[in-house]
Amino acid sequence: MAKLRYLDANTYYKNRFGTKVYKASVALASTCPNRDGKKGTGGCIFCSEGGSGEFSVFEDDLGKALDLAIGMVEKKAGPDAKYIAYFQSFSNTYVPPERLDAAISAVRSDDRIVQCAIATRPDCLPDGIMEVLKRHASSFPIMVELGLQTANDKTGRFINRCFDTECFVDAVKRLTDIGCDTAAHVIFGLPGEDINDMMESVRVASCCTGLKFTCLYVPKGTRIASLWERGELELLGMEEYFDIVEKALETVPDGKVIFRLTGDCPKKLLLAPLWTSDKRKVINYINRRFGV
Ligand code: SF4
Repeated sequence: MAKLRYLDANTYYKNRFGTKVYKASVALASTCPNRDGKKGTGGCIFCSEGGSGEFSVFEDDLGKALDLAIGMVEKKAGPDAKYIAYFQSFSNTYVPPERLDAAISAVRSDDRIVQCAIATRPDCLPDGIMEVLKRHASSFPIMVELGLQTANDKTGRFINRCFDTECFVDAVKRLTDIGCDTAAHVIFGLPGEDINDMMESVRVASCCTGLKFTCLYVPKGTRIASLWERGELELLGMEEYFDIVEKALETVPDGKVIFRLTGDCPKKLLLAPLWTSDKRKVINYINRRFGV
């Protein structure tokens, strides 16, 4: 097997938790300030109805949701596996601090779970939420994932992100200072961006513990779907996308974790590019090219 050219998620988790870990995706929030009018309306132009978290289990009872989410991967994971409770859809700190506190406490009381990962926006970290995160992060691993997508604020406006890059950098600093790990989501192939824009996004995102890359894809019912249907959107081919990923891996400083080389959209929602949903082909390609 070829030597790994980057620190991948499995290696990082094994070093950190002594075992392979699996994600159990559950939902905490049901909206975000970019949808309900507080910051914007309509959401980011690529965001699906489920708040970019279609794989998450929705249940009022979090313990039940965790059981269901773990049940979905348990067969593959095996009886002794450990899990990350992943609050994935929408903005999971866009809730009252007491609700976040109760959710993290429930996660911590489940000894199958070794980390709580919370996806949110950098402008959803008020003092009350930061206090909750700080208190838990002092004795339990907390990872906060932020959707930077791009460091180019002009593109940020085009995708209706409704926060600027400075807000992201400031949020990562504040989260790091209170002991949270952080991950940044970066999208390659956003309209109007060239390779320099994308590598600048990678450089900015590298202030986090790790990064997640994804190719821009078009889910049904989104604003980006209208652009695509009108022929106003160019999408990346698989080789082209992984050429960008290769450059990104060369750009990321040593020691940063690459949590994901590409993301995927549920097949029932995906309009394009279709190669992103051919998991087997994509995984084989990644294995051949990056030696994972
Ligand atoms: S991607 Fe995140 S911030 Fe943007 S609309 Fe969707 S849930 Fe809100």
